[in-house]
Amino acid sequence: MADIGQPIGDRAVVIGGSIAGTLTARVLSEFYREVVVVDRDEIMGVAGPRRGAPHSVHAHGLHARGYLILTELFPGLLEDARQLAGLTIRDFGGMRWIFDGRPIKPADTGLLSVAGSRPVLENYLRNRVAAIPEVQYLERTDVLSLRTDAARTTVTGVRLRQGDREWDLDADFVVEATGRGSRLPAWLAELGYERPTEERIKIGLAYTTRTFRRRPGTFGPPQAINPVSSPTFPRGAFFGQAITGDCRVSLTGMLGDLPPGETQQFLDFTKSLPAPDIHEAIVDAEPIGEAASFTFPASVWKHYERLDRFPDRIAVLGDAVCSFNPVYGQGMTVIAMQVMKLREHLSRNGGRDTAGLRQAFADAIADPWLISTSGDLEFPGVATHRPLKQRLLNAYLTRLRYAATKDPAATTALMRVNGLVDRPSALWRPGLVAKVLWLSRDLDTTRREEPVPVPV
Ligand SMILES: Cc1cc2nc3c(=O)[nH]c(=O)nc-3n(C[C@H](O)[C@H](O)[C@H](O)COP(=O)(O)OP(=O)(O)OC[C@H]3O[C@@H](n4cnc5c(N)ncnc54)[C@H](O)[C@@H]3O)c2cc1C
Repeated sequence: MADIGQPIGDRAVVIGGSIAGTLTARVLSEFYREVVVVDRDEIMGVAGPRRGAPHSVHAHGLHARGYLILTELFPGLLEDARQLAGLTIRDFGGMRWIFDGRPIKPADTGLLSVAGSRPVLENYLRNRVAAIPEVQYLERTDVLSLRTDAARTTVTGVRLRQGDREWDLDADFVVEATGRGSRLPAWLAELGYERPTEERIKIGLAYTTRTFRRRPGTFGPPQAINPVSSPTFPRGAFFGQAITGDCRVSLTGMLGDLPPGETQQFLDFTKSLPAPDIHEAIVDAEPIGEAASFTFPASVWKHYERLDRFPDRIAVLGDAVCSFNPVYGQGMTVIAMQVMKLREHLSRNGGRDTAGLRQAFADAIADPWLISTSGDLEFPGVATHRPLKQRLLNAYLTRLRYAATKDPAATTALMRVNGLVDRPSALWRPGLVAKVLWLSRDLDTTRREEPVPVPV
């Protein structure tokens, strides 16, 4: 356990054993004698699709900041990940990024990220956490509700169900990490608390993913090509080639444009991407398995930090609080940032002052939310109010991305912020602003490619 002082309690319970639950358990094991992670799925040893995390089969990358945190929590991660089929470690700035239809200059940023199969990464992390003596996973078990004291001010455990059996499990601290479908707002309402207010930006995003066997002679070393959707090119993709040689392609469509799964239509969709080599790579390649699609109607932030009343000895993090537009690849990194906040909080306050903890989690969300919603709001079809500050930021980001097509230093600045290593305020350094304005002096801001027609 804990290399940080004495245990602060006997048992902590984590609801949800996916990325957020697993990282949380890793940190809680430093503070509690026993940590029980409960998940309704069978999860141990599962490195493939599963019912409780259907999104995990689509392209996932762990940003540089997340990678840095995970290497601290899981020493040896880099060496292990290099051995795992399905994962690739890359320089974040060395991937082929295409923004607004234009490839940016690659840059040696020195920032590493983990790309590839999310179930493989999740399984690896879960195995590491399950090996900690204090941690126990309880699979195929549903958490039905929270248990509290008589005054309903302090959470004292959870009610569980496994098959026909129901029972209570006491806990000194409970962490809710059940993802986007979290029932915590309803559980709070049952206990007489307000539900959190929600910020919701409707984007009508859809992913469709297929895997192909690489043909001999196509592509060299493992690589990634990421045309990110933008108003001029609303269709995007994440093309990743693993060490095994297989290529996984996740296609993305905005505002109701669902990429088709049927092979020929999938290939046709790739022709509309501003990266012709994705189509060339897979046009005659053998598809492996079935296509998987996932729709993501809206980015959602549940503002728990704004609640005046909240029970004691419970925390909520991960997608249960905020789920970002996935094309920006932020979710897992924000979770990593939140668990470090949890660690800091527990070492200072024990399980008390949940208001401070809720605020700390919201602080971890604020910058990534600004970055991803700035991207969303560039789409005229995304209906919401755009304050002047937002419009100025978007205009500047368009110029920065353009500058990055000319100068690797601009790529590095962009990637450090996108990778959540630097705060967005770093983009306003006078030297960088001057460079961006100079390099983007020939940018045609009235440019509008004929966007691919999408159903609204
Ligand atoms: C298409 C797509 C692509 C993405 N790409 C990226 C990316 O490139 N990079 C990135 O960082 N993020 C990405 N994300 C976001 C990332 O997947 C999420 O941020 C992350 O999965 C959230 O993890 P979580 O543990 O909070 O929730 P989830 O992964 O949703 O897990 C919730 C868990 O809770 C369990 N559960 C639910 N209810 C109960 C219950 N009552 N009792 C017990 N167990 C329960 C479920 O079985 C599940 O295991 C993407 C998301 C999508 C949709």
